[in-house]
Parts: sequence; structure tokens; C-alpha cells
Amino acid sequence: MDKFKKFVKRFVSPDLPMRLCVFNMMSAIGFVGGLVSIIITYAMHINNGQIISMAVALSMLVFLVYLANAKNMLNLAAILLCIVIGWAVFPHMFIKGGGIYSGMPLWFVLVIVFETILIEGKAKFIIGGITVAIYTGMFYFAYAFPEKLHYFGDDKMVFMDIAQSYVFVAICTFVILAFELFLYNIAIKRAAENAKEAEKAKSEAINANAAKSTFLANMSHEIRTPMGVILGMNEMIQRESKEQEIIEYSKDIMGAANSLLSIINDILDFSKIESGKMNIVENEYNFKNMIQDLITMFRVKEQETGIKFRVKYDKELPLTLFGDDLRIKQCLINILSNAFKYTEKGSVNFEISGETDGEYKKITFSVKDTGIGIKEDEMNRLFDSFERLDENHNKTIQGTGLGLNITSSLLTLMGSQLKVESTYGEGSRFYFTISQKIIGSETIISSMKNATDNVINDKKEYFVAENANVLVVDDNLVNIKVFTALLKNSKMKIDTALSGMEAIEKVKENKYDIIFLDHMMPEMDGEVTFIKMKEDNYIQDTPVIMLTANAISGMKEHFMDMGFAGYLSKPIDYDLLDKILRKYLTKE
Ligand code: ADP
Repeated sequence: MDKFKKFVKRFVSPDLPMRLCVFNMMSAIGFVGGLVSIIITYAMHINNGQIISMAVALSMLVFLVYLANAKNMLNLAAILLCIVIGWAVFPHMFIKGGGIYSGMPLWFVLVIVFETILIEGKAKFIIGGITVAIYTGMFYFAYAFPEKLHYFGDDKMVFMDIAQSYVFVAICTFVILAFELFLYNIAIKRAAENAKEAEKAKSEAINANAAKSTFLANMSHEIRTPMGVILGMNEMIQRESKEQEIIEYSKDIMGAANSLLSIINDILDFSKIESGKMNIVENEYNFKNMIQDLITMFRVKEQETGIKFRVKYDKELPLTLFGDDLRIKQCLINILSNAFKYTEKGSVNFEISGETDGEYKKITFSVKDTGIGIKEDEMNRLFDSFERLDENHNKTIQGTGLGLNITSSLLTLMGSQLKVESTYGEGSRFYFTISQKIIGSETIISSMKNATDNVINDKKEYFVAENANVLVVDDNLVNIKVFTALLKNSKMKIDTALSGMEAIEKVKENKYDIIFLDHMMPEMDGEVTFIKMKEDNYIQDTPVIMLTANAISGMKEHFMDMGFAGYLSKPIDYDLLDKILRKYLTKE
């Protein structure tokens, strides 16, 4: 019994292709049907011609089952079966076995069912069409030349043949359809199981990715705090040391600390983009200042590297635009830094042009260098995260392979696209066009004519406000130490608080000219402290500046909406702090 089951499983099982199973089952039923017919025909002494036809058909059937199963040629086997049995044996049986007064027309129907299910492709339609034509021809032949056909002797024989054919055709049709349905249900069940597993795998992957992003974000955040201390204390060494050697050492510390900080910022940005938490914060901004900042920044690079930095910009561009200037600037800094990084000699050309589109300006920024260029086959990996190209050449150049990925993602978020043209060994051009709303009618050139504030502050000219009262709130004592040290030369009266509660006590009793408030503090954070101070009217128009390690996540607008006068990102950049002090305390 087991052997028989094993034998059957080789021909019919849900693990075999569905068409092969149906072919095997129909062949088996056909074989049994044919065998029974041969026995009945022989027993009734009807005619030998039909018995020979059926015997040929059965041996053919065995050969075709072999072809389909052992030789993997199911389509060919099905076509041959239709041709030999459908087109030759059945028409022959029709003529010899009673024409339309027999069960043969029922078998003709089964042939079409068989062809529809088992033959694939164009052949299905060709074979099916020919079969229908042949059988219609057979009916016409039987009608036009009845004398050429052999009939059964009496009605009983006709009845027997029709009934026997009907039973077999019915069994065949039932088995085919029931089996198809059975396989269809299994397929649906498996598809549902696969979809469930895929969904589970997907959600596991999403969770793992989210965990990675959170880890990166937290880690970078944690590193930024001690970095603030390193940079702040180092700033003090530079200012207070009289020894040239120490100042040089401290410059190296600053260089290394700043590169570390920029890597951390990149990782933080990258994890934010990955987790979909990167926000574009639009505001009005001074376009001229943005261009000027970039020029100043890369003039330093020009001096350091000897690579010519050429700038060309349309002076008729608007002075004020609406958009996310910080992010656009970040993209340009990335592209310009790369241009200097990957160029040994020659020049970096920075061009800005614009085209008016209603109330918008379509601004094109282009950075062209005469550097190492990019190989054509590496172009497609250019924007991939953590990918660095031409590793042999670039071994000595610092980088993480995140810059262009972040730049391209940020530009996509702002509705733009980073484009590249490059010839290996000759240089590259990175460019993008971004639409920004025009605010007002002033242009860069017209503002230059009116300009009176074109003086750039010298860092060493400390801002002094002897009578100013300042409150610095931070739960971290070292941070307070750094901040107080930075303000030392301003000669201001500095008061400190180590918690939100303490800060509230202080503002109740004293009047301050400016308050610097840390964001992340236990119990009462900076936001809650600020709201409480405002609600209880302890401060009226005192400017409050938020100190945050989270500045790059687009919190600026949020703080401004809350009523903060500004924010400073930790580690504190002395130039920005200086700007704020000058802005709010100059009256004195
Ligand atoms: P990295 O931190 O390595 O500079 P980026 O994402 O900014 O990362 O750039 C990815 C890679 O693209 C670089 O490692 C470099 O191989 C190539 N690349 C970027 N800019 C240029 C350029 N201006 N010229 C030649 N190659 C460049």
C-alpha cells in the first residue's frame, strides 16, 4: 500500500507543477476509461477497428506520460496527445463507433477542456481552433455522408455507449475541476502565509533600522555635549595663552574637534533622513549674507590649498528669499568642500544664476572643479550612503561617504535634484536648481548701494557690556564653566542657575538683560522653564536664548514660535554668541 502511495505521489502531489498533476490524472482516468471501453467493446463483439484504435491510443498515452514526467516536456506531450488522440484516434472512433449516435461527441468536449488547461501559449489557441474545425467537420461529414459511418446495431448499444462515455467524461471533468480548485486553495493559503512572513520580515527590518537610527542619533547627541566642553575650553586656551607653541597645539585640537563634530552632525542628519524625521524649516532669509558667508568660508580654503576659488553670481538676484537657508547652505558647503577636497591643482568655480518664475526665483547653483573626476562606472554609486569612490586615489582624503547622500536627500526634500557631470582625470561639475519665493523687490546690487553694515566683526575685538546682567541656566556645571569663560571678556555680570526651578527663583528676584537657557534639563526642561517664567510674568521683554544640542533638527522655527529670541547650538560657536550679544545688548 505504501509503495502504491509513493508511486501515486510521484505523479500527483501539490508539490508538483499544477499542469503536470492534471495531465497525469487525466491520463490515468483516460487510461482506465480506454481499458474499460476495450473490454466492453470486445465483450460485445462490436468491431475490431475500434479496439485497435483504442489500443494505439492507450500505448500512446503511456509514452506521453513518460515524456512529460521523465523528460520534462509537458507542453510537447500535451500537444502530441491532442494531435494523436484528439485529431486522429477520436475522429476514427467517431466514424467506426456510431457517429453522433454514440458517446463520442461527449469525448470531443473533453478534448477542448484538456487543451485549454494543459497547453500553454499561442499553441493553445492554434491547437484549440484546429480541434474545433475538425470536430465541426466530422459532424458535417456524418450528416452529409451517413453511409460512410459504422453504427451500433440497436438503441440499447447506443444507450450503453453514451452512458459509459458520459460517466467517464463526467468523472474526468469533476476530477480536473476539483483538483484545480484544491491546488488553487493551497496556492492562496501559501500566498497568504508568504505575505504574512514577508510582512513580519519587513516590520523586523523596519524596527532594526529604526533602532539603528535611534542609536546613531543618541550616540551623536551624547558626543556633542563633551565636544562642547572641548571646543569651549580650547577657545579659552587660544584666547588666554601667550605662548605661540600652545596656541598652535590648540589650533590642531580645534581642527580635529571640528572635523569630528562635522562627522557627528552628518551621522545625526543621516539618521534623521533615514527615519523620516528630517524637517525642512522655511523662513525669510538674506540671500546676500548666505552667499557672502560661503565666499568667506571658502576664501580660507583657497589660501590654504592654493586652488583658485572663482565666484560669479548674478547681482540682480533678490536680496531676500523664503526657504530653508540653513539646509541650502549645508548642501553648498558639502559640494564646495568636496570640490576642494578632490582637486589637487587648478580652480573651483562657483556660479549662481536665477530665472524668474512668477513670484518665485529658480536659482541654479553650480560648482565646477578641475579635480580628479569620477569614473563613469562609479557614477551610479555616487549618492549611496557610506560609499567612497576611487578608494586608491582617495585613501589620504578624509571622508565618510555621507556628504553627497545627505545633500541629495535634502535637495529632494526641498523639491530639487543634485546633478553631476564629470570626466575622470579632468574634473566635475555638481549643480542643482531650487525654487525660492521672492520677498520684496530689493536686489543684491541695490542693497549693496545702501549698505552701511558691511563690516565683518573681528573675533579678537571682544564685545564689552560692563553693566549688563546675564543669567546662564544649565544643569551641567562644566557647560556653565565653559559659557562663563566665553563671556569673561565681555565684563558682564554673570549669574548662574543649575536647574529650571533655581532659574525661576533668580528671575523672581533679579532683572536680567539677557538669559541663556539650556534645553535638556531634568525635571523642568528649558521649554517648561521658559513658559513658567512668561506665564508668571517674571520676565517681560528680556530676550531668552535657547541653548540646545539639538539645533540641527530644524528646531529653530519651533523655538521662535514659542517666543525665544534666538537659539545657540551646542557646542557654542563664539562668533554666533558674539552676534547675539551685540544684537541685544548694544544699546548700552
Ligand atoms: P566623502 O565624505 O567621502 O567626501 P561624499 O558623499 O561627499 O563623501 O562623496 C562621496 C564620494 O564621491 C567621495 O568619496 C568621492 O569619491 C566622490 N566625490 C565627491 N565629490 C567629488 C568631486 N568634486 N570630484 C571627484 N570625486 C568626488
